[in-house]
Amino acid sequence: MTDIKSMNMEELKELMVQIGEKPFRAKQIYGWLHEHLVTSYDEMANIPKSLKEKLKDYPITVLEELDVQTSKVDGTRKYLFRLSDGNMIESVLMRYKYGNSVCISSQAGCRMGCRFCASTIGGLTRNLLPSEMLDQIYRIQTSIGERISNVVVMGTGEPLDNYDNLLRFIHILTEDGGIHISQRNLTVSTCGLVPRIYELADEKLQMTLAVSLHAPNDEKRRELMPIANKYSVDELLDACRYYFDKTGRRITFEYSLVAGVNDSKENAQELAGRLKGLNCHVNLIPVNPVRERSFVRSTRQAVENFKINLEKCGINGTIRREMGSDIDGACGQLRKRYMEKTESEK
Ligand code: SAH
Repeated sequence: MTDIKSMNMEELKELMVQIGEKPFRAKQIYGWLHEHLVTSYDEMANIPKSLKEKLKDYPITVLEELDVQTSKVDGTRKYLFRLSDGNMIESVLMRYKYGNSVCISSQAGCRMGCRFCASTIGGLTRNLLPSEMLDQIYRIQTSIGERISNVVVMGTGEPLDNYDNLLRFIHILTEDGGIHISQRNLTVSTCGLVPRIYELADEKLQMTLAVSLHAPNDEKRRELMPIANKYSVDELLDACRYYFDKTGRRITFEYSLVAGVNDSKENAQELAGRLKGLNCHVNLIPVNPVRERSFVRSTRQAVENFKINLEKCGINGTIRREMGSDIDGACGQLRKRYMEKTESEK
């Protein structure tokens, strides 16, 4: 691997030895990249010129900010970044009372095919490198001049479909010597790649696993998410139980409400029945209408009723506050709009 920003400390030490340098240089370079967030070797004040020369063979991955939209309502910002090969990805900054949270993409595009999602419409282009996941956070922290305290991997892509890079990303993000975000302040969201959930559980990380459930049974879930043809709700919930047993971390279930599809009282009761006994929390969100899709969002009242019906059966739910409603369009739409624009210019 030559992507220096995706290397962990050990690998960076090995690289130093390989190119005839002292291993302690690794710690310095790592700190410049992941703590001070510099974008060039020139900025690394304590690195000798001769070493900087050698490092020219190891270009630093830096994302280019193409566009940023700021919400007048709550300060939410949507960033569009260009990768070095011209691909584009989206990230979102959300400002909460408890701190700044960034939602990052894990892939350019996605191959999971969820019916209500804009990010999957053009399919998967490629996996993001660990450095490309990290740099979404680094660039945003640098651009606002404030610390990012929370990270959610809920943007474009299925993080568990880019598993090795995701794990590497998590370690660099949360370990000493870098930006050092607490694992407890990290959430990774998956549509439910069951074997990967088991693997992840065995890593015993302290992050939160969010699982996009969106339906109380297999039949309904298959209408919304092709992955439901591969793994049943039972298999998925077994994996979630295993995750909780291994990590002690409460599972978050995401449930996007689609009018007339998954938002009835019966749906809430069936869901509560399935989740009973599992240490979990349900995040409710009315589905974001996507231009290319015909799904209609549930009314405010239907969402509130759903929450009440869950709670009557002993399952906690939160209605997710909508952020940046004025710069909206569902996730993935900024990127899509840009891709269409560049296509039509060709
Ligand atoms: N692939 C991962 C993470 C990215 S999607 C996953 O599936 O969890 C982040 C969340 O947004 C998921 O819960 C996804 O189902 C949901 N989502 C996607 N499009 C949506 C839309 N139009 N309205 C509401 N939620 C949506």
